[in-house]
Amino acid sequence: MISRTIQSYIPNLIDIRHDLHRHPEVSGQERLTAERVLNYVKPFEPDWVLERLGGHGLAFCYKGEHPGPTIMLRCELDALPITEINTFGYRSTVPGVSHKCGHDGHMSILIGMARLLHEHPITHGQVVLLFQPAEENGEGAKAVLHDETFLSIRPDFAFALHNLPGYPKGQLQIRNGAMACASRGMHLTLLGKTSHAAWPEDGKSPAIAMCRIIEGLTLLPHAPALQHCFNLVSVVQANLGRDGFGTVPGEANISATLRSDHEDGIQFLIQQSNLLIEQWLAIHGLEHTMHWSDIFELSVNDPSAADFVRKAAQNSQIPVHEMPDPLRASEDFGVFTQQFPGALFGLGSGEQSPQLHNPDYDFPDDIIEYGVQTFWNIVQECINQETEAQLQDMD
Ligand SMILES: [Zn+2]
Ligand SMILES: [Zn+2]
Repeated sequence: MISRTIQSYIPNLIDIRHDLHRHPEVSGQERLTAERVLNYVKPFEPDWVLERLGGHGLAFCYKGEHPGPTIMLRCELDALPITEINTFGYRSTVPGVSHKCGHDGHMSILIGMARLLHEHPITHGQVVLLFQPAEENGEGAKAVLHDETFLSIRPDFAFALHNLPGYPKGQLQIRNGAMACASRGMHLTLLGKTSHAAWPEDGKSPAIAMCRIIEGLTLLPHAPALQHCFNLVSVVQANLGRDGFGTVPGEANISATLRSDHEDGIQFLIQQSNLLIEQWLAIHGLEHTMHWSDIFELSVNDPSAADFVRKAAQNSQIPVHEMPDPLRASEDFGVFTQQFPGALFGLGSGEQSPQLHNPDYDFPDDIIEYGVQTFWNIVQECINQETEAQLQDMD
C-alpha cells in the first residue's frame, strides 16, 4: 500500500519526469540535467549540497537531529545516444539522444524522496541522495568515488534501484550476492599489410585471423572451467577493408563485450581472450593494438542490505520476486557496493514493456510511487535497526 502523502506527490513527480525526459543528455555531458535537478531539489532545503561530483554529479543531504547511520540512495543523470521513436508530447527534443534506460524515472523518484525528507524529517542519522553522472559508460560511479568531496560521505548503507522490463509493474526484484554482471568492452585492431588484390601474397591480410578470433571469442563461455557460472562474449562490431576490388586490406577491427556473474569468470574471459588473440596473431604474423573500456564491476548485494529491501517491501505490501540469477546487464553501482554494504534492486516496469535501450522504451509513470515508497521504507528500516543496535550497545 502506498502512503497517501506519496500518492499526493505523484502528479508533480510525473511532470518532473516528463521535463527530464524532454531534455536528455549523454554520459559526461549532463550539465543541464544537473541544473534542472538542483532547481527541483533546492526548494526542499537540503542540509547541504555537493555539486560537480565526478563530473556533473550532485549529492543532497538530509540530517536527523540525533546521530545514526548514513544511508545513500543513488540514481543516474545520463541518457543514451538513441533516437526516440515515441510520438507522445514529452518525447525527447534532442536529436539522437533519449532516456531509454529510465534514468528520468529514477531521478524523479529521488526528487520525491527529497520532498519527503524535507516535509517529514528523519530523527536519526542522515540520508544522502546521489545523482550520479555517466552510468552508461561505466565511468560515473568511479569518478564520484574518487572525487575528493565525496570522501566526506562514508555511507553505512548504499541503495539503488533499476526499472526492469519483463516483470510486473511495481514488483521488486532482489537477491543476495551478485545482482548484476561484471562486463568489459574490448577494442582490438589487427595490423597486417595492405596489398594489391592480384598479389595478396605481398601483403598480410588479417581476414582469416579476424574470423578465427571472432569464432574463438564467441565460444569462450563454453570452456569447462566456466561451467559454474554465467558467461557471455558478444561481438558488437567487426570491420575489414572497404568495398574496393583492387585492394586486400591490411587492418581489421573487432569490438566485443565480455560478461560474467562471477569475478573469476570475468578474469578467465579476459585472460583467455588475450591468449586466443596472441595465438592467431602469431600464426598470421600480425601486429595489434588493444584497449579496454566500459569496465563494470560485479554488482554484489550485501545480504543484510538486501533484507532491508525485503522488509521495506513487506511493510507496504509491495510484491517481491527473489531472482534466481543475477541480471545479465551491468550496473556501475557495483563500484559502491564494493566499498559499502548495499543493495541494487529491480523495480518491474511491466511484462509487455519494450526492453531497456530500445528506441520505444519509456519509464512508466505509474511505478514512480513504488520507488519512492520502497526507498522511504528502506530509510526507516535502516534507522530503526541501527539506532536499536546502538541502544543495545549502551545497555
Ligand atoms: Zn542503460
Ligand atoms: Zn540504466
